[in-house]
Amino acid sequence: MDGYTVLRVIGEGSFGRVLLVQQDSSNWMFAMKEIRLPKSFSDTQNSRKEAVLLAKMKHPNIVAFKESFEAEGHLYIVMEYCDGGDLMQKIKHQQGKLFPEDMILNWFTQMCLGVNHIHKKHVLHRDIKSKNVFLTQNGKVKLGDFGSARLLSNPMAFACTYVGTPYYVPPEIWENMPYNNKSDIWSLGCILYELCTLKHPFQANSWKSLILKICQGFVSPLPSHYSYELQHLIKQMFKRNPSHRPSATTLLSRGALAWLIQKCLTPEIITEYGEQVLEETKKSKHSTLRKKARGRTRQKV
Ligand code: ADP
Ligand code: MG
Repeated sequence: MDGYTVLRVIGEGSFGRVLLVQQDSSNWMFAMKEIRLPKSFSDTQNSRKEAVLLAKMKHPNIVAFKESFEAEGHLYIVMEYCDGGDLMQKIKHQQGKLFPEDMILNWFTQMCLGVNHIHKKHVLHRDIKSKNVFLTQNGKVKLGDFGSARLLSNPMAFACTYVGTPYYVPPEIWENMPYNNKSDIWSLGCILYELCTLKHPFQANSWKSLILKICQGFVSPLPSHYSYELQHLIKQMFKRNPSHRPSATTLLSRGALAWLIQKCLTPEIITEYGEQVLEETKKSKHSTLRKKARGRTRQKV
């Protein structure tokens, strides 16, 4: 831990701890994840994957990797510190007071941008949940905790072991079916629902009834003041058949999100892939116009 001074513990889990540290040379603050390395070589390699995958991601909506190193049987991952805590804490602090829709859509769009980035790199996060989404005081949302993430060897590959948190696990996983990027979309839908209701979409007293509820895919409607578009978005993300769920790119190119993207794209996002998303937006606009034109023609006949 040479070069860093530990200020306090900001997170604790089964793996070890997350510490708030200050770099001695710069006085900059970072979050440092301390992971106990297992004894066996293959398990150790597995733990290292988190640092390797996080290091590959460079995007304003993914927690930024700084460096990683090993010392005294621990792996340390130094990353950007998100000073607004995680989204689960934020939801709890609301104490029942619902978030305004524009705030939800803004956060959700940022999450989609992050997920879109990792899916483009053929990485599945596999543990998307409000506790793994970090916030900054200036309103930025960042996807973190790549401890369960996997790189798919080719775009059509399916990963077969799953280690997500039960509330967010999609039906195909309970049914022992293969899954791909659309499983992450289901989990993202769970967060969107949580943001709208401050509750999990699927809750139960036992594992059996939780799995049953997830596999039936039935969720109570959102509070009535939220727009039809938001209701529709959630319905699409909770399609039982993964191939019927929208991809992150599709989500970003539709309706309210596309509008938000065009309004608040930062220069760094534009250079990276904004053009592609805008291209998708144009395509979907053209097809809507074509459909409308066809409709008008039919009416005339
Ligand atoms: P775990 O594998 O135990 O889930 P996480 O990487 O999710 O580990 O970290 C645990 C908790 O620590 C998070 O839920 C969050 O509250 C906090 N945390 C982790 N990384 C950061 C960070 N970069 N900035 C701020 N808080 C963080
Ligand atoms: Mg976590």
